[in-house]
Amino acid sequence: MTQRIAIIGAGITGTLTAIGLAQQGFRVDLIERNCEAVTEASLYNEGKIHLGFLYAHDQTWETPRLMIEGARTFGPIVRRLTGFDVNTILSTPFFYGVHRESLVTADAFTSHLSRCTSTFNEVVQAEGGAYVDGNRAITARVCERDEWENLFDPEIFSDFFATSERAVDPQRLAPHLRAALAAEELIQWWPSTSVEQVCPNGDGSWTLKGSGGELIAAGKYDLVINAAWSDLVRLDEQIGLESLTEWSYRYKLANRVHRSVSTTDLLSVTIVLGAFGDLVNFGDQGGIFVSWYPHGRLIFTESVDLPDWNVAEHEHARESAYEKSRIAWEEMSPQFRALHVINDPVDVRGGIILASGRLDVDDPNSALHSRVQVGITRSGTYFSVNTGKYTLAPLMAQNVISQVKSMLV
Ligand SMILES: Cc1cc2nc3c(=O)[nH]c(=O)nc-3n(C[C@H](O)[C@H](O)[C@H](O)COP(=O)(O)OP(=O)(O)OC[C@H]3O[C@@H](n4cnc5c(N)ncnc54)[C@H](O)[C@@H]3O)c2cc1C
Repeated sequence: MTQRIAIIGAGITGTLTAIGLAQQGFRVDLIERNCEAVTEASLYNEGKIHLGFLYAHDQTWETPRLMIEGARTFGPIVRRLTGFDVNTILSTPFFYGVHRESLVTADAFTSHLSRCTSTFNEVVQAEGGAYVDGNRAITARVCERDEWENLFDPEIFSDFFATSERAVDPQRLAPHLRAALAAEELIQWWPSTSVEQVCPNGDGSWTLKGSGGELIAAGKYDLVINAAWSDLVRLDEQIGLESLTEWSYRYKLANRVHRSVSTTDLLSVTIVLGAFGDLVNFGDQGGIFVSWYPHGRLIFTESVDLPDWNVAEHEHARESAYEKSRIAWEEMSPQFRALHVINDPVDVRGGIILASGRLDVDDPNSALHSRVQVGITRSGTYFSVNTGKYTLAPLMAQNVISQVKSMLV
């Protein structure tokens, strides 16, 4: 096919979209400001493939429904596009702890989990797909107190639930995404190339420019896909596309303790509901993901010009935030405390999160309790893809691919 397509941003979304379009016979230029693909939020995230459990405060229930759609298609789409089975890089199953200051009660959370599990299981029965562990049914149950009271402080938590939710290790998926990208001959790869301006040519085509106004990559394109996430809003604004009316950008740490852990050393756990955090056991090859939101959320801004917080200049602030997060978890969890991770090497980098709304997660009215203002917005042959969550990236990529196909074929 002769049309020239540019994709801006090689995170998981841009990468899978490029691979899928190339496999359909399209010639694609994938343009990335870093020297390698999958280096920002798609590398520094927790990798939880959400089943909707965390979105217990979305009164419309649209977010759990959307997450379930992403969760049942994540594994199958990644396998079809890259040949890789994510089943081999999973965390242990998640437990959910209800904090005594939670925005939802344990009773309400029990009903919510039950609705999520039955919805997932019904949708998979009716429409196919499977969870990332290959199962076509998911589970969630309340734990007896003696299952958890020695692992987590009962003065801080009221209840625990055991679920079959998992995380896909984003740091171990990244090399497979890069390898699949390199194998596609129809993808031209433009690393270390930052798109500063997107300019309409007036005939439906687009020109991409760098910081000095110079043409970048092939210069002129028939179709542009903005998959730049941390730069999405700025680029969309240039062409008058309002992909979000009210947004915020957050920089959040994805601390990764490098240490071999067995499946029984540590429970993977998410604390609900509010400004809390997670521990994720990625096993003997992945180590432990540690996040505690009050310390790990370092930036909350409406600005569209975001500094790179993973650079050396901010290392001290990141390390100090990790130390506070580690101590917070050690105070809450005797199981985590017993691991003595204080001497283990830690990667204290993180990523930018784009979301709608401007209230933080501890506010019951925060739009962060809903993630449905995501997806594809279009202006002519310009597509903007707000991934929303890692969970949704393969689904978003698949949707863009089919929209582009129906437009260009
Ligand atoms: C700490 C943390 C924890 C998270 N946990 C989870 C979780 O457990 N589950 C979940 O579902 N989601 C989670 N997320 C969200 C998830 O990481 C993102 O939704 C997802 O990775 C976004 O993928 P993306 O490809 O759209 O964006 P990115 O990964 O941000 O990729 C965008 C790419 O565009 C490039 N780029 C940007 N601007 C330009 C430009 N002007 N020119 C050229 N290139 C450009 C960037 O360098 C980057 O490589 C988390 C995020 C963070 C930060």
